[in-house]
Amino acid sequence: MYDLIIAGAGPAGSSAAREAGKAGMNVLLIDKDRFPRYKPCGGGLSERALSYLDFSLPENICERSITGARIRFGDRVIDRHKDYRLTVTLTRSIFDDFLLKKAQEIGVHVATGKKVLDFREDSEKVEVRAGDETYRSKYLIVAAGSQNRLKERVRDRDGKDRYGICMVTEVPEKNDAIDARLGNALEFHFGVARMGYGWIFPHDGYYSVGIGGMAKDMSNPRRSMIGFLRKNGFAGSYKLRGHLIPFGGITRPVASPRVLLSGDSAGFVDSFTGEGIAYAIKSGQNAAQTVADKLEDDDLDLAESYQQRCKKDFGDDLKYSLIMAKIMHSWPEMFFRMLATRDDFLDKFLEVPAMKGTYKSLIRWLMPRMPGYLLSI
Ligand SMILES: Cc1cc2nc3c(=O)[nH]c(=O)nc-3n(C[C@H](O)[C@H](O)[C@H](O)COP(=O)(O)OP(=O)(O)OC[C@H]3O[C@@H](n4cnc5c(N)ncnc54)[C@H](O)[C@@H]3O)c2cc1C
Repeated sequence: MYDLIIAGAGPAGSSAAREAGKAGMNVLLIDKDRFPRYKPCGGGLSERALSYLDFSLPENICERSITGARIRFGDRVIDRHKDYRLTVTLTRSIFDDFLLKKAQEIGVHVATGKKVLDFREDSEKVEVRAGDETYRSKYLIVAAGSQNRLKERVRDRDGKDRYGICMVTEVPEKNDAIDARLGNALEFHFGVARMGYGWIFPHDGYYSVGIGGMAKDMSNPRRSMIGFLRKNGFAGSYKLRGHLIPFGGITRPVASPRVLLSGDSAGFVDSFTGEGIAYAIKSGQNAAQTVADKLEDDDLDLAESYQQRCKKDFGDDLKYSLIMAKIMHSWPEMFFRMLATRDDFLDKFLEVPAMKGTYKSLIRWLMPRMPGYLLSI
């Protein structure tokens, strides 16, 4: 009998496992894949995500220190560089493998190459069926990403207006050429997908190139992606990968009496940028801390306590990122012109990933200035 089983060893699962191990729990972490494994991702890790880790990342994992942004809308472009870091870029197979090792070093049991097929909870335990085996545990965290069915035992399946579809590929390139084209800036293309964007992110020896938007508006994501690649001069034949990404903040149920959802399984993703690694790490840690508290105090309301923790730590970020996304995608032309003509607006914007500001402070700052801005453009 384990204290805690965790299904999925992405950033949410490995962070939960490390936190639970630190709290002295007997933990089993299960993933369907053997590590290192590929994960479709732009590989941008924000300052917020870095701040949630209780260790520093080795330099060889951080490929580029990003200090700038290039924003494109149609044939117009804005370039801006800051004297501080906005994010780093990294390769998910390497990063996720490192996070898994950081959980293992605490003494967590790990079973990879084993898919969790189902679970059954009763008043005393959870039985988890994975591969050919059945494991027993007091509690379960489902941290199996956005595409598993396990989470639907706790919450409803998302409708097409509650998740996005992304297509992504890695385009090999020499670092000299990447430096000449982008340097240490992330490139965003707005206006190419509703409630989404296209991106070109510089890495070590490749670009991450992708496009994502609301599922109900992406009629042919593959065709949109091929068009995006060609338009940006990437003429080769690339392996395209599709993946889902949830939208919408802390609005879904995230727990049943003995099961907590974390990361993408809970829907914890920034609706404006699609950033999810930070919230996966933090919600995984929160889920483990809540289980630790419950083991100490059986009267604790597990679901309520977990939900409150997540709301306090990043509820506003998810809520206001959705408001920002709605403003931007309702008036894209106005939004872009404001970014292009008002340096102070763009500066405030870049403070969000750098953790020098929040969406909430940005919106509060913007609202009284909007009428003046609109008159001046
Ligand atoms: C194309 C794309 C680009 C993105 N770019 C960025 C970015 O640049 N920056 C950023 O912060 N976020 C980005 N995101 C979001 C980010 O990838 C996710 O929010 C993040 O990976 C969520 O972490 P997680 O641990 O919840 O899930 P995941 O990282 O998806 O990990 C889930 C794990 O569960 C395992 N699993 C699944 N089902 C089972 C099962 N039944 N049994 C056992 N194991 C299972 C999987 O193998 C996987 O290892 C992007 C997403 C997409 C789709």
